[in-house]
Amino acid sequence: MRIVLMGPPGAGKGTQATAISQRLSVPHIASGNLLREHRAKGTPLGEEAGASMDKGLLVPDGLVIRMVLDRLNQPDAKDGFLLDGFPRTGEQAEALDKSLGLRGVQMALNIAVGTDELVKRLGGRLTCRTCQTPYHPVTAPPKVARRCDKDGGELYQRDDDKPDAVRQRIEVYNKQTSPLVEYYGRRGTLKEINGEQAIDHVQTAIFAALGVKA
Ligand code: ADP
Ligand code: ADP
Repeated sequence: MRIVLMGPPGAGKGTQATAISQRLSVPHIASGNLLREHRAKGTPLGEEAGASMDKGLLVPDGLVIRMVLDRLNQPDAKDGFLLDGFPRTGEQAEALDKSLGLRGVQMALNIAVGTDELVKRLGGRLTCRTCQTPYHPVTAPPKVARRCDKDGGELYQRDDDKPDAVRQRIEVYNKQTSPLVEYYGRRGTLKEINGEQAIDHVQTAIFAALGVKA
């Protein structure tokens, strides 16, 4: 299946992505994770993207589109994918549609969460330095403090999860990304998910929307 996971920063996309990707046997492709990998490796793309990311602004469309379409061309994404954090602008959505041609995006899942809850979640988010799995000390604690359950990687606070950048990212989402909800609504591929529930209830709602059993 070809799926797009949408929602504001902190909605729970990364949290839900592992279960969906395992259940449907499709790769989880997160533009933010790919960009952070580029930065960690010090590639030219990572260098170019860094300044926008630190400010909580979007990385220029051309860069992100090239990076994500290259990833979608890898053999493991041939029969489906779960895109997380892409598209984020009209230009990105159109580039994706163009590259998929008749195959198209089959479902756009929009995880909706109000601003106050987003700020609370992002303020507490810890991310694995190795695999980028998100945690939260209250709602999604790791088994061992500051260590990832999956690979034992160190958990850290992303620079853009500090208060100023969080506010900026939510504003950027409202202005530049939220219109995409309508974009997929018009295509008849949109499914709305109430993201203000416990993590396992959000997962149940997503599986129901996908029409699969847990
Ligand atoms: P979150 O989902 O927590 O908001 P991401 O990890 O998806 O954060 O993104 C982190 C940053 O990476 C964004 O603030 C932005 O600078 C950049 N980024 C990620 N995906 C895109 C995209 N599709 N277009 C432009 N910038 C992006
Ligand atoms: P996104 O990828 O959409 O930016 P994340 O999946 O990283 O969001 O989740 C943001 C933060 O909120 C993380 O700290 C995560 O552990 C926590 N979180 C995710 N889903 C929920 C939920 N349903 N209830 C409470 N906290 C959640």
